[in-house]
Amino acid sequence: MGRKTVLKNFRIIDEGVNILGSVIAEDGIIRDVIPGPGGYSEDSGDLLSDRRIVRHIQNADMVIDGGEGTDKWGLTLLPALVDLHAHFRDPGFPEKETLESASLAAAAGGYGTVVCMANTHPVLDTREAVISLRARADALDLIDLFPAMALSRGMEGKELSGIVKLPVAGAGGVVRILSEDGKDLANSALFTAALEEARRAGVVVSVHAELGSIESQAARKSGKARAVWSRMEEINGVRRAIELGKKTGCHIHIAHVSTLEAAEMIRAAKAERGGAAGGFVLSAEVTPHHLFLSEEDAAELGSETHGLVNPPLRSALDRQALIAAVLDGTIDAIATDHAPHTRSDKEGGAAGFTGFETAFSICLTELVREDRLSLPRLASLMSGAPARILGLADRGRIVPGCRADFFVVDASANWTVDPALFRSRGKNSPCTGRELRGRVLMTIRQGRPVFVSPGF
Ligand SMILES: [Zn+2]
Repeated sequence: MGRKTVLKNFRIIDEGVNILGSVIAEDGIIRDVIPGPGGYSEDSGDLLSDRRIVRHIQNADMVIDGGEGTDKWGLTLLPALVDLHAHFRDPGFPEKETLESASLAAAAGGYGTVVCMANTHPVLDTREAVISLRARADALDLIDLFPAMALSRGMEGKELSGIVKLPVAGAGGVVRILSEDGKDLANSALFTAALEEARRAGVVVSVHAELGSIESQAARKSGKARAVWSRMEEINGVRRAIELGKKTGCHIHIAHVSTLEAAEMIRAAKAERGGAAGGFVLSAEVTPHHLFLSEEDAAELGSETHGLVNPPLRSALDRQALIAAVLDGTIDAIATDHAPHTRSDKEGGAAGFTGFETAFSICLTELVREDRLSLPRLASLMSGAPARILGLADRGRIVPGCRADFFVVDASANWTVDPALFRSRGKNSPCTGRELRGRVLMTIRQGRPVFVSPGF
């Protein structure tokens, strides 16, 4: 018999499940989800639970109790999070982050599956480079890593990358996202050719929609604020991505939507697509920081230093529009854009925030309050939906047959963000000192704990 883990007395939540009960995992796969209490009443000694659980507990290799030490259902069990967008800085920038520190940080944030972007040194622009990074991640055995491949060779925007040699993605495909993250592919002819290759291989293209135009360049030259020209760039980039997506029939995924206008364009394109046939699929993500913070926060942190991120933190109006787009389903997924930097790099104007270790708590604090969004919907945005975008049918749910990838949360605990305690080398959090709700206590990969919070 295989290795067995019993997770008992949890509130079990995924996008379609919200019960009190227990999960039985065997050989890294969920074997059963059993509603009701898992154990004996300490007062009377009466058997409270389904007899199946008792039998499982007797021959389990590990029992994790969500209600231990309490007389109530204490902790929440969710499917491990799936991140469509992170920067691991490996190979090339160990002072910012390494594969190991990024993987530890991801696990500490509740993530089980992560897409890391290709803007490393050297750039991940061949299938071999992707496979070799993935193999190194597998050896660490902390998370399931799907490195993105660049669209152009060396991310230089001159010729296509190894995507021309990409086989048609099957169930075991390692390359599941292509992206020129960090910049948009300015040459539209080359971008179209890349989308056609992606369409052929059946791989999603994540678009970092920031495309310069005559107007945005003029605005930039005349000394207009970043808020002005970067908004033009996002609108321009999203418009072109949707147009070329329609033309090529490729699955376009818009990364880190930050403006009201971009959200509106995506909403309109999705409505139109609903009425039309064709292979074009459009999905979109938003980051926790764009939902939680605005330009006032950036100004306070230093708009060109510690508060700098691409795209920039926007107005309160944009923030409300993004939350509305999450609520009405225009935005499919929440992705971290985890972008670790050293302190001196931030002071020198490097863009981006460390994100893994605050993402879930930010979303819980910001979205799951006043019943704006339910916890099952949040599980969908951070796990079920991104797993579907990646074509991974074996995760993102807590149902029999799925991978036994979970994380345990104390949803009622408040904590204060202290980057000194992060596993990530990047301490560049815009939430330093803020109080957030919901503490990640444990992350489980294929039935085995890979992260346990001190004190749990
Ligand atoms: Zn990015």
